[in-house]
Formats: sequence, C-alpha cells, structure tokens
Amino acid sequence: MFRAILLSRINDQFSAGVAELEDSDLPVIATRAVKLSVEYSSLNYKDALALTNRSPVVRKWPMVPGIDAVGTVTESSHPGFSVGTTAVLNGWGAGEIHWGGLAQRACLDGDWLVPLPEGLTSLEAMAIGTAGYTAMLCVLALEDNGVNPGVGEILVTGASGGVGSIAILLLARLGYRVVASTGKSETHAYLKELGAQEIIDRATLAAPGKPLQKERFAGVVDSVGSHTLANACAQVRYAGVVTACGLAQGMDFPASVAPFILRGVKLIGVDSVMAPIARRVSAWQRLARDIDHRCLASLTQKIGLGESFGAAAALMAGTHHGRTVIDVNA
Ligand code: NDP
Repeated sequence: MFRAILLSRINDQFSAGVAELEDSDLPVIATRAVKLSVEYSSLNYKDALALTNRSPVVRKWPMVPGIDAVGTVTESSHPGFSVGTTAVLNGWGAGEIHWGGLAQRACLDGDWLVPLPEGLTSLEAMAIGTAGYTAMLCVLALEDNGVNPGVGEILVTGASGGVGSIAILLLARLGYRVVASTGKSETHAYLKELGAQEIIDRATLAAPGKPLQKERFAGVVDSVGSHTLANACAQVRYAGVVTACGLAQGMDFPASVAPFILRGVKLIGVDSVMAPIARRVSAWQRLARDIDHRCLASLTQKIGLGESFGAAAALMAGTHHGRTVIDVNA
C-alpha cells in the first residue's frame, strides 16, 4: 500500500483527497518503465490549478497529480536507470495525462527522467522543481542569445513566485543586475535577499501601454504574460531578448510588432514540459553549479502530502511566495 493524492471526476463531480493505493493500481508503462520510491514532489502553478480544479489541467481521471518528483529507483527496465539511482521527473504530462509525483510511489517512462545531478540533494531538486528548472531554461535562452551579465538590466516578472524567485537567484548569482516586478510589497526584503537590485510595482506593467516605450532592459524573464509581457517587450532595448514562459496574468498577448521590427527585439518561448532530454540535463547541471544553496533553502517551505490542498489554495489566492516542497512520506 502507498499514500497518494487522488483527484477524481465522476458525473462532472470533482473530488480530491489522500488515498491508500495498492502497487497494482499504478499505471502500466509498456517499455523502459521505472518505478520510483518518491521522496519529494513540489507545488507548481499547474499543480495548484489541478488540486483546486481551477482549470482543465487534468485530462485523465482518476489522476495522481504532481508534475515533479524525485525518488529512488526500485525497479527498472530502462538501461539508463539502475535500482538505487536517484532520479528527477519534471513534466512530460505527469499529473495531467500520466500519474505524477504526489504519491509515495510512481511508475514512469524512464525516458522522462534525469539523474539527480551531483551537487544537489533530493530536497534541493524539488525546491527547484519545474519552476526553477524553467527559470534556468530562460537563463540559458538569454545566454544563447547573447544577453550576458554587463549587457544591461534584466526584468523578472512574477518575481515572488516560484519561477521568478529562482530566476532572480540564478541571475544575481551569475552577475546580472536584476529588476524584480512584484505585486506584493511585503516581499521586497525577500526579493532583495535573493539578489534583486531594484523592485518595481507590477501595476506599472499590468495595464495596456504604448507599443514602444523608453528602452530599458537588455533581457526579460516573464512568467506573467498578457499586458505585462506586452509592456516588457515595449521596454526592451535594441536587440534585447524576452523569454516568455508563463501566464499568471493571462494567456493573451495584447502587443504590437513594433519592438520586433523596429528594435530587433527577440521573443523566445520557453517550454519545460516537452523540452528534450539533452536540454534538461544541461539545465539541471547548470542548476547544480549555479544555485545558491543557502538562499534556495531560505525561499523554500516543506509540507506534508495532506497539506498540499491548503498550499495550492494559497498559491491560487496569491498569498504565497517562493517554493513549496511536498514530503510525500509525511
Ligand atoms: P507562482 O504562483 O509561484 O508565481 C506566479 C507569480 O505571478 C505570483 O507569485 C505573482 O508574483 C505573479 N502574479 C500572479 N497573478 C498575477 C496577475 N494577475 N498579474 C500579474 N502578476 C501576477 O507560479 P509559478 O512561478 O510556478 O509559475 C508562474 C507561471 O509560469 C505560471 O503561469 C505557470 O503556468 C508558468 N510556468 C510555465 C512553465 C513552462 O514550461 N512554460 C513551467 C513552469 C511554470 P508577484 O506577486 O511577485 O507579482
């Protein structure tokens, strides 16, 4: 038997709770299957949507949610993962169309896993989680496109959230000057501790703005979308780079082409869910190298499986900041 969060929908009635399941309940993966004894999962925006049934994240029922997991391999028919290895799962539809990480056991396709990189503990891997791994994908995209420290300021939107917090931590450690946009005045000291050098009120970016505004930023990490992304593009300097990974304000993009055709601004979409394995491995190796362990611990709270629902509601209500790790065995 093992404990898992189980989401069900029967006759359009949603229900959610902690269930006791049998190993035989686990989904069958035809080839290259890996079974994990899960240590930790984490709470991401998408998990919060699933746990609160706020958006159609879950596409198969019943579902064990959790887009992230870290754990020890207990059985494997995958050549890359032997029993005893610690493996990390992010995305690939886990918690959406396949059972995910909010459980003491998981059965997964080994092709979805990356080995826990040297230099990170299991707990740290989930403190980073999909949010932090996506932040690193954004940093890599900035670097790949020539935005290096010294080129100019980087705007991070959704700053106090999971993606934003880790993006600030990474960028500041790498030597960038970071401007953090937040709607939570009570997080200013926290954001400065992560390394933000300046903080702006997100209200200054949230409303419709002019197609071209005063040039300021060399790069952007945006997890917010909508008018915020449009205004960010309008404030990027000539040949600057905007990485777009989220939609906390909205999925719309009410912008004009002006920044792209008149200033050569690049807009780069960042997806973590289906990112190829080589890119994931590079991102995780860079995370192991570049993350500040002390600050990572300070931005993370650890909770038990049954507390996930309250934490998800707080994330949706915008009353949380930083990252939440879920100890599935507590
Ligand atoms: P969090 O909830 O932790 O952070 C989101 C932050 O966005 C909030 O903390 C808040 O920051 C800001 N925010 C919330 N609502 C609004 C609003 N109405 N207008 C402007 N800002 C708002 O979520 P995550 O960091 O985990 O995820 C952020 C986004 O990135 C989500 O949309 C998520 O789906 C997406 N994402 C995408 C991935 C991908 O593969 N592309 C992977 C991971 C996440 P503050 O109060 O500081 O302003």
